[in-house]
Amino acid sequence: SRSYDIPGLLRRLLVEVIKAACQDQLARDFHFEPFKAFQARPPADDSASETFQRLHDELYASDAWIAEQDKLDRLPPEPGCNLPRAIAGLMFWSDATHVSQFGQSKMWPIYLFFGNLSKWLRCKPRSRACHHVAHIPSLPDNIQDFIRSHSNGKSGSTATLRHCKRELFQAVWKRLVMDPDFLHAYQHGVVIDCADGITRRIYPCIFTYSADYPEKVLVATIRDLGQCPCPLCLVTLDQVHLLGQVADERIRIVKARVDSTERISKVQSARKIIYQHGYAATNDRSEYFLKPESLVATENAFSKALFANFEFNFFRMLVVDLMHEFELGVWKAVLIHLIRMLHTLGNDSVNEFNQRFRHLGNFGQSTIRSFAYMNTSDMRNWAARTYEDCLQCCIPCFEGLFPEPYNQHIIRLLYTLALWHGLAKLRQHTDETLDHLTAATQLLGKELRFFTNDVCPHFDTVETPKERAARERRTQAAMEKSAGKKGKEKSSPGSLPKTFSLRTIKLHLLGHYAAVIRWFGTTDSYSTQIGELQHRVVKSYYRRGNKRKDYVRLATRMQRRGELLHRITEQYTPLPDLSPEQHYQMAKSVKHKIHIGDLVGNNPEEPALAGFLPALKDHILGRLFDRPFDGEEGKFTDEERDQILILNNILYGHSTLRVNYTTYNMQRDHDVINPEIPSRAFIMVEAADGKTRFWYARVLGIFHLQVVNTTSTRRIPQRMDVLWIRWLGEDPEYVGNIGVRKLERVGYVPEGPYAFGFVDPDLVVRAAHLIPSFIYGKTDDLLTRSLYWDSQDGDWENYYVNPFVDRDMLSRFLGTGVGHTHPGCAPVSLTSANVIEDEDGEAGAEIGSLDEVGHDGGLEQVGERSCEDPKSSGKGGIESEVNSETESEKGSVDSDIDDEVAEDLGLADDDLIWEFDYGH
Ligand SMILES: [Zn+2]
Repeated sequence: SRSYDIPGLLRRLLVEVIKAACQDQLARDFHFEPFKAFQARPPADDSASETFQRLHDELYASDAWIAEQDKLDRLPPEPGCNLPRAIAGLMFWSDATHVSQFGQSKMWPIYLFFGNLSKWLRCKPRSRACHHVAHIPSLPDNIQDFIRSHSNGKSGSTATLRHCKRELFQAVWKRLVMDPDFLHAYQHGVVIDCADGITRRIYPCIFTYSADYPEKVLVATIRDLGQCPCPLCLVTLDQVHLLGQVADERIRIVKARVDSTERISKVQSARKIIYQHGYAATNDRSEYFLKPESLVATENAFSKALFANFEFNFFRMLVVDLMHEFELGVWKAVLIHLIRMLHTLGNDSVNEFNQRFRHLGNFGQSTIRSFAYMNTSDMRNWAARTYEDCLQCCIPCFEGLFPEPYNQHIIRLLYTLALWHGLAKLRQHTDETLDHLTAATQLLGKELRFFTNDVCPHFDTVETPKERAARERRTQAAMEKSAGKKGKEKSSPGSLPKTFSLRTIKLHLLGHYAAVIRWFGTTDSYSTQIGELQHRVVKSYYRRGNKRKDYVRLATRMQRRGELLHRITEQYTPLPDLSPEQHYQMAKSVKHKIHIGDLVGNNPEEPALAGFLPALKDHILGRLFDRPFDGEEGKFTDEERDQILILNNILYGHSTLRVNYTTYNMQRDHDVINPEIPSRAFIMVEAADGKTRFWYARVLGIFHLQVVNTTSTRRIPQRMDVLWIRWLGEDPEYVGNIGVRKLERVGYVPEGPYAFGFVDPDLVVRAAHLIPSFIYGKTDDLLTRSLYWDSQDGDWENYYVNPFVDRDMLSRFLGTGVGHTHPGCAPVSLTSANVIEDEDGEAGAEIGSLDEVGHDGGLEQVGERSCEDPKSSGKGGIESEVNSETESEKGSVDSDIDDEVAEDLGLADDDLIWEFDYGH
């Protein structure tokens, strides 16, 4: 056999990384003992008893960790050792990336994080919790020369190159996990004086591996989009659209992928055929062993190192990836197709859609960012979070644009998508919310099949103008490349038809979320976003430094100076005077004075100010006499009102109010209410009538005033804070809640005694995210001409209450947040009402064409990958151009790293030698 050297592997020994990590300052916050957390819930009534339900969030509070610790505790002690035994929870990330947007520099790092550290610390990109353990080299360009020189001048096929790439990837991992020290530590532990002053015997344990689909396939040594495309189970491609059906849920359990001696021997048999008998990388004889489970003829490093002795099942570590699978996957594909459908209705619909988005405004510190300066339908340069914002707000923007009955189906689909996304992204789950997620997954499967089979065929969808332009650019570029200068003008065929298909692995993967969260904790803990943030840090080093120098040198030198850098680059500026122990905060300033007499006297026609003073006094009396808040101030007599003096008749106005609250996952957060900004002016208060959960109001003014109670013996002025508000009420004709999967709809209370009022800021739960119901338009019926209209031309007739704006809000509407108190709220049922009948299970596959959703070319078939196009294999089903790192682009990490750098890194400059043979 002949060997071929690939230079440029940089790695650190895992045991060294583990030692360093456990001794680092950060490790003082490490958790070494797993635990289960529970939520205690008070008894429903006197006869019942307190109930407990499990919380799922951190890795060290997960079943996965507890199971490993159990195994550890059952091991016989190491001879002469009575040190406490603990786990170092390894969480790997890898992702090939470009270092600069236009340059050729590429990198393919493997990052390691420790699950012992709380995700809150671990997931901050500058927390220095990330350890670079290796940089994977790419196949050098001259690999073809080598192959030709050994095969009578024949070039290696794409399949051969792909095989080489897999071999290379696994060879790198073998260097890491088959390191004797590491294996010894895996079995016997390694004694470390940890940063908290306790000496422990630490056992490394691999829990998760986060990567996007093309990279997961490399890790799992399975075929990219093969007949069994899922790294977690043996679902076949013609079953992937059955998400959420009983049979589908069964496959995931019964046919879960597990490592086994049979799997290993199948791979060995196939390798024998290739390496000893000299067949090509793909041949019918080895396919006999591999194809049924879409295996590949590459040894798996994790299996080789850890299966025989530790029964390690490497498939299980390949955790779900919300960003690529949903935000940039299924949701993006649905959105693109909806935009195509909008285009079939004409430009007016598209413009209307864009205009609605421009009305939304922003919300929270960066919860929803404004769409005001873009055409939403273009989705230009959108990041995953823009798609997320769009999903969270899009229902009112789509409403009514499509004709019935499609409109209602689409709205229901969008609601289900937003609900699923919110649940899957919760940072803390309970058993109850995981049940909700399972139910939402079933609903989502049904809605998507219904959409594909019963909605999409009624629209003759073609490429959007943007897709068409992109395709034409690509064709042009390809023609220039292939035909050189003579590129003849091909007549443009116009916009190509585009259909929507569910035959995509990303859809199937959504069904694995609930189980993965139950086992490893919540998705934020192992999101690929963390790795990408780390990339951004490395890229910023790259930009800061001299680009000619290798980024690795910069990245690690910067890391060396971490402590210093940490302080300099930390850009977090705390809001002044944030005191979270107070429920709300209003400025003390007395600069902005409003004389009540002038305010009312100067605006005699203003309906909002009719009865302003008596209402204010009633509000004050209610609070002084401690009347429970019930939405209407008790009627007090004029005599009683006269007992109240407002000092100098002056209100002190403020521009903002900060409302602090405890989030569903017991963190602190706050909203800033600003009456001047429509999207930030709404508040929600706990409803007092028990019929609905919350009441909503628009804040018109934020005031404080000095009040004297003349009946009191001391007659000392006391400060009182009030919000002047305009109430919104439920539309009695309409039902909207999570159970029926419709947004709650509210509208301003019509002019009259209940339209305006005052509220104690202490009662504000949070800012509410209300989105105008665009289809009902504006009206001037609710209030005669007023300065307090939504705008010059009147008020929005209705608003929708958005429960999806953030996870905290969703938890409030579900009634599930651990950090929330919901007196007497009924739990939401997701399975009852408004469920469409599921169609016959098999129908879905037939109607959607094999067209890949959202894929640039749109012509590629999903299926057993043919070997013609090396560019295509990096792409999952619903990938598209925005996120277009293809396999071949990922290929080459610059490999010329000089010794100095390697030394600087503390990396072993470990040229990779790996052996293979080719057929003649
Ligand atoms: Zn699966």
